[in-house]
Amino acid sequence: MADIFADGFCETPYWWDLAPLEENDEPTPASKADVVIVGSGNVGLSAALSLARLDRKVVVLDAQEIGHGASTRNAGYLGRGLGFKYSDLAAKLGREDAAKLASVAVAAHDYTAALIRTEQITCAYRDTGRFIAAPSKKAYDKLSKDLDLMRHDGVPIDAEMIPRERQHEEIASDIYHGGQLLRGNGIMHPGLMHRGLVERARSQGADVIGFCPVTSVDRHSGGFTVTTPKGKIETRDVFIATNGYTPKAFPWQRRRVVPASAFMIATETLSPELMAKVLPGGRPLLENRNTPLWIRPNEDGTRILFGGTTGEDLGSLTAKAHHLYSEMTRVVPALDGVKLTHCWTGKVAMSFDFLPHTGTHDGMHYAMGWCATGIPMGTYLGHQTALRITGDPASVTALDDRPFPTWPFYYGDPWFMRWAVWWLQYQDRQMMKD
Ligand SMILES: Cc1cc2nc3c(=O)[nH]c(=O)nc-3n(C[C@H](O)[C@H](O)[C@H](O)COP(=O)(O)OP(=O)(O)OC[C@H]3O[C@@H](n4cnc5c(N)ncnc54)[C@H](O)[C@@H]3O)c2cc1C
Repeated sequence: MADIFADGFCETPYWWDLAPLEENDEPTPASKADVVIVGSGNVGLSAALSLARLDRKVVVLDAQEIGHGASTRNAGYLGRGLGFKYSDLAAKLGREDAAKLASVAVAAHDYTAALIRTEQITCAYRDTGRFIAAPSKKAYDKLSKDLDLMRHDGVPIDAEMIPRERQHEEIASDIYHGGQLLRGNGIMHPGLMHRGLVERARSQGADVIGFCPVTSVDRHSGGFTVTTPKGKIETRDVFIATNGYTPKAFPWQRRRVVPASAFMIATETLSPELMAKVLPGGRPLLENRNTPLWIRPNEDGTRILFGGTTGEDLGSLTAKAHHLYSEMTRVVPALDGVKLTHCWTGKVAMSFDFLPHTGTHDGMHYAMGWCATGIPMGTYLGHQTALRITGDPASVTALDDRPFPTWPFYYGDPWFMRWAVWWLQYQDRQMMKD
């Protein structure tokens, strides 16, 4: 087999080259706070920033390095939709409810894009639009019908269908049957975005502390006692923002989110000619199927980043890199022969109804189950949770306190993942039959 690895190939996120995680030299948290936030991803930090601005004493704790979770490992797509296809959502919940939820996703995008701008977070954010590639004629027709339905239901969406004859304007590939160009979507560098949030939250007075796992939380009349190996913290409120990394200390939440590993590779620096050939519009691509592949340019348009195979276990990351490489060159044959510099993984959290969830349980706030839309949805709902904690009625969204389902005999270790992935792939294969 050809050597696909560049010298210095590493199994850490490409993003960490430019935005390395902080070293392990962390202070001890104060013994009193207004709000303790568990998890230092974008969700926890977004909430911390808003709470600190409202003069709350906030402590954000992470079990590992600050930003250890998916927030510094993702693909950097800032979308304006839910994980669900709109027509499926409408069939399940009715069109009125579907339109309300879809509008939360639009608000989430707009909030996050505005936050990046107003906070001047330098994270190479670009409003590129997104190409949603249809793997079959059936998938293309479904995308087109979804678009009509969303327009009819008043969901703010700016998109156009790109027929197969024009898809080379988007991607150097013949395997798709056209797709949809969805405007008002962007990409950014997730490591720099996360770092920007840490800096802004700290500058407003929030404490953000790594290597300080919350091991238990006890409720009492005045609030909560949060226990960590570095001491106890008395606090009025607790916000659990651990998503795909939710620990056993929060069994109710852990039973309701399904962690799934997602994987990515980065190529070496490519020539401007090859980059222009592969992604002529400089736009990220996401496949329109249950188990999608995705491909995007890096922050300065000099490399290709490629991902997918969520939930599939192929053993080592080296084996995964080989698998993703063969998928990448199947999609874009022009990339055959390029070398890889990085392969990495992180955990997304699915929910049993494929919707994000936010609310309170046992007096503690939570927001999770992003179904791979956590950059916009999580950043926005982190902020909305901050508003809820301060009693602001503007905190309410159509996603608040919806029933958060679980399964019998599920305690947080997804023993059914192999079958779930098989079932999703089976549905994808049905969709491929024209
Ligand atoms: C490869 C990949 C690609 C993705 N691409 C996209 C994308 O393009 N667009 C998009 O919107 N979403 C994407 N996602 C999903 C997105 O990254 C997540 O939805 C989002 O980052 C979740 O943020 P969070 O703050 O909720 O959780 P995380 O960022 O995962 O943070 C949770 C944190 O909780 C901490 N924690 C766990 N237990 C404890 C404890 N006991 N005490 C203290 N801390 C604890 C963990 O250490 C972790 O740091 C992707 C994810 C992956 C893995």
